[in-house]
Amino acid sequence: MKVVRTTTELRLALPDARRGLVPTMGAFHEGHLSLMRAARAECQTVVVSLFVNPTQFGAHDDLARYPRDEDRDVRLAEAAGVDILFAPSARQMYPEGFATWVDVEATGGEASARPGHFRGVATICLKLFNLVRPDVAFFGQKDAQQVAVLRRMVRDLDLGVHIRALPTVRDPDGLALSSRNSYLSDSERQQALALPRALEAGRSAADPVAAARAALNGLEPDYVELLRVGDATLLTAAAQVGSTRLIDNVVVEGDLG
Ligand code: AMP
Repeated sequence: MKVVRTTTELRLALPDARRGLVPTMGAFHEGHLSLMRAARAECQTVVVSLFVNPTQFGAHDDLARYPRDEDRDVRLAEAAGVDILFAPSARQMYPEGFATWVDVEATGGEASARPGHFRGVATICLKLFNLVRPDVAFFGQKDAQQVAVLRRMVRDLDLGVHIRALPTVRDPDGLALSSRNSYLSDSERQQALALPRALEAGRSAADPVAAARAALNGLEPDYVELLRVGDATLLTAAAQVGSTRLIDNVVVEGDLG
């Protein structure tokens, strides 16, 4: 595996073969690794990007305390068979005078709860797609709305990248793995379990939103909503647990693809 830090090095390191890209913000867990393994199984060249993208964080978000452990991430990516880890600096990705943004119109869910978030996500992903020129890009269902936004961008801007969505990896008790889980105290982690349990309760109910809200066990949600992603309907929610904001979703009907 190579670690490259400049866009020029990255271009030179890319061979001409079926390429898979796994965009991440690091602090790898089994969710990230499942995407890397899927990319490894399907593609000749697997590129993982590790970049805590400042433009997708709001002014009051957790950018400063976001977990970072590059040495560990390098070891895990290497063990997962990754060919290239692209770990650029913020200055590489946002050079002096940066002034171009991709704004995919989206409403509801994270789009409404975190204004500007998807602008940062779409912009960095378009840059990564342009740099790596992947055939397939791998994302987790956990961020289903992100998948919807990126598929919209790919269609609207004729990018020709297949956006693959893979199932959410969970701890045995049901909590979706997230780099942000490391912020949770033991008691907060117990409270956080209400989120996947409420979604599970809502999944097969006649009124999924009402059933999930009723099962939140005191957690105050930012939102509980049904979200359409391609042919799939998802029940999706975000909630604050202490100082940690968690999101999760389950498929109610159909297939995310
Ligand atoms: P992040 O580093 O949190 O930006 O996540 C990078 C990618 O990993 C995104 O496509 C996420 O949707 C995906 N991901 C995060 N958590 C999980 C999980 N528990 N299971 C599957 N994929 C995940």
